[in-house]
Amino acid sequence: MISYQIKQLEQVIKSKPISSAVTEVILHHTWSPNLAMWKERGGSYQVSQAMVEGIKTYHMKEKGQSNIGYHWVITPDGLCWEGRPMVKQPSYSLGGHVLGRNDDSLGVAIVLNGDKESPTVLQAQAIGTLLGTLLKKLDILPEKNFSARSGFHRDYATKTCPGSRISKGMVIGWVKDEAARQSYEAEGDVEPDVSPWAESAVEWAVEKKLLTGFPDGMIHGRENLTREQMAVILLRFYDLIEAERG
Ligand SMILES: [Zn+2]
Repeated sequence: MISYQIKQLEQVIKSKPISSAVTEVILHHTWSPNLAMWKERGGSYQVSQAMVEGIKTYHMKEKGQSNIGYHWVITPDGLCWEGRPMVKQPSYSLGGHVLGRNDDSLGVAIVLNGDKESPTVLQAQAIGTLLGTLLKKLDILPEKNFSARSGFHRDYATKTCPGSRISKGMVIGWVKDEAARQSYEAEGDVEPDVSPWAESAVEWAVEKKLLTGFPDGMIHGRENLTREQMAVILLRFYDLIEAERG
């Protein structure tokens, strides 16, 4: 099976035909295999490949399908694996992932146990990019696809799929984050130092000198804070309040 990196997806999706019958993209988790198993086995490209091939074999041998049931599978390393073609083949249905919706939907699965695990950073980026690109091509708004009663397997079955820890709001957020990142890149800018949602708070913190930049002049907005840095920020905040009180 073929895999694509996040940065290749837009071009790849543009070049792939999608059945005109498709009205929705439905998200799944694989449950097993999952993120813990992927890490245990070493988390390499070969592990990702073996897991996706394993799902295909399971769908064909155990479930009697003519191909893997999903159109795309996203592994924890952020790779997107191409599954069943997105146009109907003469010998089998468009999809094999949701009972009753296999003729008019696309199935995207994340290698994860979404009841217990959250996607990796790369996986969330890949989910955002892949779903965003597919929905753009289908001319469906993310909010419409991932509405109260659509977009997840659990909307069509008594399952938690893609997992009780995954919400529609999270998925829409990943799609929007990736769209924002790509538009910055298209403009030739580097990835923004601070996420759009945190911009005004970070501006305030910088103005009040609670947060200062690193020697490279960047804020590194998405990095973790150490306990030492937190103590320094708290002290600055305390001093600020004292100063404002006079
Ligand atoms: Zn499912």
